[in-house]
Amino acid sequence: MALDDYDFEVLKNEAETLVINELDRQLEAYSDPLCLCNDCILDMAAMALNTVKPLYRVSLLGTLYTATAMDQKAYATSVREAVFNAIEKVRKNPSHEISSEPEDGDEE
Ligand SMILES: [Zn+2]
Repeated sequence: MALDDYDFEVLKNEAETLVINELDRQLEAYSDPLCLCNDCILDMAAMALNTVKPLYRVSLLGTLYTATAMDQKAYATSVREAVFNAIEKVRKNPSHEISSEPEDGDEE
């Protein structure tokens, strides 16, 4: 069976949006020095996303199921924890050498 004709593009992992928003929030409030290069930020997002449960929905149909308020709260908590842990892990163990010089590759 070939699934080429089906539009899998409409599958959206809501977790992605939630993790990125949460990452944004936590980084804004972060006071310790932290590498904010593209690699590190993407590492943090990937790490957090691998920790939380995926939350797929079909974008055309809107929300596929109605999560209870309890579920939503628990999910938001798990996203917060996953993002927090991911930031700490990448901070302590970045995927590149830590240098005190400004990152290159930052130019627009
Ligand atoms: Zn970095």
